[in-house]
Amino acid sequence: MKYQHLFGPVASRRLGISLGLDLVPYKYCPLNCVYCEVQRTTHLSTERSEFFALADILAELDSFLKDSPQLDHITFSGAGEPTLYLRIGEIIRHIKTRYPQYKLALLTNSVLFPDPGIRRDCLPCDVVLPSLDAVSQDVYEKINRPRAGLRSSDLIEGLKQFRKEYSGKIWLEVFILPGVNDTEQEVYLLRDTIAELRPDIVQINSLDRPGAEDWVEAASPESLSRIRDIFAETLPMPVEIIAKAEYIKAEHPVDAVAGELIQSILVRRPCTAEDLASMLNLHINEISKILRRYSAEGLISSHRETRGVFYVWKS
Ligand code: SF4
Repeated sequence: MKYQHLFGPVASRRLGISLGLDLVPYKYCPLNCVYCEVQRTTHLSTERSEFFALADILAELDSFLKDSPQLDHITFSGAGEPTLYLRIGEIIRHIKTRYPQYKLALLTNSVLFPDPGIRRDCLPCDVVLPSLDAVSQDVYEKINRPRAGLRSSDLIEGLKQFRKEYSGKIWLEVFILPGVNDTEQEVYLLRDTIAELRPDIVQINSLDRPGAEDWVEAASPESLSRIRDIFAETLPMPVEIIAKAEYIKAEHPVDAVAGELIQSILVRRPCTAEDLASMLNLHINEISKILRRYSAEGLISSHRETRGVFYVWKS
C-alpha cells in the first residue's frame, strides 16, 4: 500500500521508534512560527475539517499495523497542526481500541485547547507535547505569528484546563529565539506560567535545522543553560535542553523501502544525510546514493547550514 498519511518510522530521541501520522494538508496551522522547520504557513487557520476521508486514514493504519511492527509510539505530527483534523478523536479511539499495545503521542501547538471537545478527544493519548514559547502577547506575535485574534492568554488557559483533565504525560517544549523570548522578563513570565501548567517535563529547544525565516538563529549553549537554570531554580519537574539533533541511532532497522521512507520524511522537514542515516538505521552510503538519485531527477534541493547540508523535497 502507498502511504500518504503515515511516515517513517523514525528513531527519535524523545519518542523512540516513532511512526508519524500526518492528518492535515501541507502547512494548515493557526500559527506561522518563524522557526518552523516545515517553512511558512500557507493556510493560517483555526478552521477544522475532515481534510482527508477518515476511512482512508484508518485503512492506512490497519494496513501498517496488521503485522504488529516494533514501535515505541505512534505520533500525530507532520506538516501542520494535527488537532485541525475534525475527526482526530475517532482516530485516537480506533488506535487505542484496536492496537492498545502502542503508545500515542501528540505534537501540538495547543492553540485549539480552549475547546473542551478537542481536549476530550486528546485524553486517551499517552503523551502530549505542547509548545509554549511566549506569555506576553507581543512576544507571541513576534515568534509564533498567530492568526489574527488569537491570544497567548487563551492558549495558556486551554493548557491549564487540559492539565486538570488529563492524567497522561505532558512534555512542554519551549523554543528559545535569541533577542525575542530570552529576555529576563519573558523568561521569568514563562517560568511562572509553567509552574501553573504543571507539565511532567520541560524541554528547552532552539534552532537545529533551517527555520521559516533566514534571520532566525540558534540560541547559544550558554543562553540555554542560563534559562534552564532559571527554570530549574523553582520548577519541581525536570528541565532539559534538547537543542541538538532530535534523532538517535535506531536500535533495529526500520522495516520499509528506504527511498519511500526518505521521501516521506523530506516532504515534511529538511534533513541532513546523517539525520536520515540515524533515523532509519541505514548506512550513510545507502542514503547518499538515494539522495544523489533524487537530486539528479530534480526531486530535492539542498543547501548548507551550520549543521551540514540539508535536503528538502521540492513540492
Ligand atoms: S512550528 Fe508547529 S505550530 Fe509553528 S508554524 Fe510550524 S507547524 Fe505550526
